Order: sequence, then C-alpha cells, then structure tokens
Amino acid sequence: MASFLSASTSCTISSASNIKKYDGLRASSSSTSLDFALSPRIAGAQPCLRSRSLVVQAALGSPKLEGRNLRVAVVGGGPAGGCAAETLAKGGIETYLIERKLDNAKPCGGAIPICMVGEFDLPMDIIDRRVTKMKMISPSNVAVDVGKTLNENEYIGMVRREVLDSYLRERAGKYGAQIINGLFLGMDLPKDKGSPYILKYNRYDGATKQGVPETLEVDAVIGADGANSRVAKDIDAGEYDYAIAFQERIKIPDDKMQYYEDLAEMYVGDDVSPDFYGWVFPKCDHVAVGTGTVINKPAIKKYQTATRNRAKEKIAGGKIIRVEAHPIPEHPRPRRVKDRAALVGDAAGYVTKCSGEGIYFAAKSGRMCAEAIVEGSARGTRMIDESDLRKYLEKWDKTYWPTYKVLDILQKVFYRSNPSREAFVELCADEYVQKMTFDSYLYKTVVPGNPLDDLKLAFNTIGSLVRANALRKEMKKVSL
Ligand SMILES: Cc1cc2nc3c(=O)[nH]c(=O)nc-3n(C[C@H](O)[C@H](O)[C@H](O)COP(=O)(O)OP(=O)(O)OC[C@H]3O[C@@H](n4cnc5c(N)ncnc54)[C@H](O)[C@@H]3O)c2cc1C
Repeated sequence: MASFLSASTSCTISSASNIKKYDGLRASSSSTSLDFALSPRIAGAQPCLRSRSLVVQAALGSPKLEGRNLRVAVVGGGPAGGCAAETLAKGGIETYLIERKLDNAKPCGGAIPICMVGEFDLPMDIIDRRVTKMKMISPSNVAVDVGKTLNENEYIGMVRREVLDSYLRERAGKYGAQIINGLFLGMDLPKDKGSPYILKYNRYDGATKQGVPETLEVDAVIGADGANSRVAKDIDAGEYDYAIAFQERIKIPDDKMQYYEDLAEMYVGDDVSPDFYGWVFPKCDHVAVGTGTVINKPAIKKYQTATRNRAKEKIAGGKIIRVEAHPIPEHPRPRRVKDRAALVGDAAGYVTKCSGEGIYFAAKSGRMCAEAIVEGSARGTRMIDESDLRKYLEKWDKTYWPTYKVLDILQKVFYRSNPSREAFVELCADEYVQKMTFDSYLYKTVVPGNPLDDLKLAFNTIGSLVRANALRKEMKKVSL
C-alpha cells in the first residue's frame, strides 16, 4: 500500500477495467439510496435535515459502568474522525481524538455534495467555491455541459481539507472531546470481555519533534485513520485494493481562473486513466488537476501529464504550487468491526467507485458508528460489545450497499474502453440523466423516477452501448 506521498514543488506550465470485486458489504433487500443515472431519482431540492436527535434505547443487557462513563478513542481527525468524536461527546461518552497533524491538508479534490452542508451544519464560509457547471469531456474531446438542471440554490461545494477537517475537529472539542495531537503507534487488545484497550502514541507537545510516548486506556476504539489505517492492522481487518490518486495544485492567471470560477471538468479516456477519470476542480485561488488508477499505478505520472495536456490552454501560464498523491480504497475491508473496535471512512474502505467520492461517506460513517455506541451504551452509562458495533455495520450496508454496487457496475460498463467512454459522455447530454445523476449525488436520497423517462433512457443507453460496441469492433479491425 502506498503511503502519504505529499510534496511541494514549483514549476511553470508551458502554454498551453480491470475492476476488482468487493464483497465487504452485504446486500440488503430494502434500499433507500442510489447514486446512479438509471435509477429512481430524488424529488426536487429538498432542504437537508439541520438538527438531529438520537433516540437512545437503554442497553439493559450490558453491565452498568460504576463511577465513570464509557471511554472511546477516535484515531484520526479527518471528516470521519471529527464527526465520530462530535457525536460521541454529545452523547455523553468520554471522548479522545488522536490526530498526528492538526494542520493536515489531506490530498483531496475537496468536492462535497450540498446535503453535507445542511446535514453536518457546515458554515458557508468554509465553502471556497460553489460549482454549478460541470463539463464531461470525452476521449475525442467532445465536451458535454452537465448541470443545466440545477436550480439556483444548488451546487457542489469545494472545500480546502485543512479548513474542513480543523472545523469539524474543533467543533468536537467544543462538545467535550479531548483532542490529542499525537501519532498513534498501536494498541494492546483487551485480554477479556471487560478489560480496556491500551493505546500507545507519541504526543506532540512542542518540546520534541519525536513526541513524548504516552498511553491511553479506553473501552472502545474507532479507527478513522484513513487508507493506511494502523487501527485496521491492529484488529487484523485485512487489506483492500486501492487506486493511487495524483493531484497537482496549480495557480493559474486570474483571467484563466475566471473560467473555472464555478466550473469543474472531468476528462475520460485511455490517455488520462485506464479505469478512472482526470479532473480539474476549482479551489479557493487555484485549480486542482488530478487523475487516478487502480490497474496501472506505475503509469500514474504519464496519466497526470495527459490530464494536464488536455486542459493545456485553459491552465496555460499556471504554476504548480503543490504535488500530492494518496491511495483511495476500492472497496470495504474484509473486516470492519472486531470486539469493541470499528473502522469508519477510508479506514473501512467507503469510497465510491466511478466518482471516487469519500468525504461525505467518511463523515456519515463516523457519525453512524458513534451513534451506535451512544445508543448501545445508553449514553455512556453501560459497557458495549461487538453486537452494538454490528448495528452500525448493518445500518451502513442497508443504506449504502446499492450505491456502491451500482457505481461499480457503471464503472465496469462505461470506463472500460474509449468507445464506451464516448457513449457515456453522449448519455450525459440527456437532461434526465443529468437530473438524476446530480440529484442523487447532491442529496443521497431517492424516490422513484418517471417510468416513461426511465424507458426512454434505457433505450438511449442501449443505443449508445451498441454504437460503442460497433465502434470498438471497427477500431479493432483498423488496428489489425
Ligand atoms: C487526490 C484525491 C482526491 C480526492 N477528491 C475527493 C473529492 O473531491 N471529494 C470526495 O468526496 N472525496 C475525495 N477523495 C477521497 C477523500 O479524500 C477521502 O475519502 C476522505 O478524506 C476520507 O476521510 P477519512 O476521515 O476517512 O480519512 P482521512 O481524510 O484520510 O483522515 C485520516 C486522518 O487520520 C490521521 N492519521 C492517520 N494515521 C494516523 C496515526 N497513526 N495517528 C494519528 N493520526 C493519524 C491523518 O493525519 C488524517 O488526518 C479524494 C482522494 C484523493 C486521494
């Protein structure tokens, strides 16, 4: 597994599937969420929930804690960890959050769906840009404008991760979580049912660079420490396939930046990635240009150069101010819960195929896991066990299994060759496809679509795929 490959550099730009199977999630009969064009769609722009209340059913079967509340450590202070710690602290749990770097700028595009703003009560000033236009650009450079169906209040939010992550962590702190600036090194697992986890970490208190070795005793652990999770190793959670994503932050001239003011671009083609897409996302005062791949990681720099070349004229005169790379999990780990320890976010493997979206799912899984702990412990007054954490897994899988499955299929069908990608971009021109795709991305909830439009879309999809197939055969003949 690749590690954090983050570096800064400065240079001037000249003018100008093999999809692996996942089986970590369990299928469920009743689904409520689906992020896919050929699926039911959401009804209009529903306002998101702004306040939440957690119904606590006392876990009368588990032992009552005497003289103290349940103690839980959250390892990792990204969106998953910040949201988990906040929910735990609000729910009466003695909460510790261990983060190795409090000003960490996670390599990330930083695109979040609008529903996250309401659901997680994010202040508007942490949204750098509101993207309302998206260009899908095919291998032959046919550009389709997506986003025509958005209403005037709808957008994709662009955030800087250092800003979002610190905000969420600090908010958890305000609710009572103890934030520890430290590097988690590992933990001793409980020897029997009631005994604690002993966490070992180096606390950074400013005195030494290496930090001061310390230990922490807790009743339960949430691993929110990202794709290279140390907690996952300690609970023997198993490995997952991963993509390597590469991104350059490029400061472009003001007139060029105007073009990207509220616009993001997605490039597809064998040149930019054999199994993913290349992107140009607007950030506060620069653009992020990147790409990813699972199946040919050694060629990632070649794909990055191709992505930059495709956007050449639009980013001409730009300066690369930061280069970053990071793994993106492809599917959930074989194990996500063991005894009183659970994994959330990237540590668990909750990034969607096709779109590579993980921020919302990290925040959501952190919160969902913490809610299960608050509920199972009757607001911190009782000990929990594995069955309480399994409730989080059941709820997660039931809610999101269809989303992951459908995006997996979409990637297999449309990202496998240039003709299929041309077909995909052609389909994106359809307003019905745009409405459903955007709605399901922005709101993460669905209601049935219009049967007539669904039928028309099915015919269009088949038509596009047949044309793609024919084109592929022609291309094979030419290359023979
Ligand atoms: C290049 C790139 C672009 C992306 N673009 C997008 C996008 O536009 N939109 C989107 O939704 N998703 C995107 N993703 C995915 C998204 O970044 C992740 O899914 C998301 O960050 C997961 O959040 P998390 O909290 O689970 O983990 P992370 O954000 O990885 O946070 C883990 C935290 O744990 C800390 N940590 C790790 N190990 C330790 C340790 N031993 N001790 C203490 N602390 C530790 C880290 O410092 C970090 O703060 C992108 C990913 C990449 C790589």
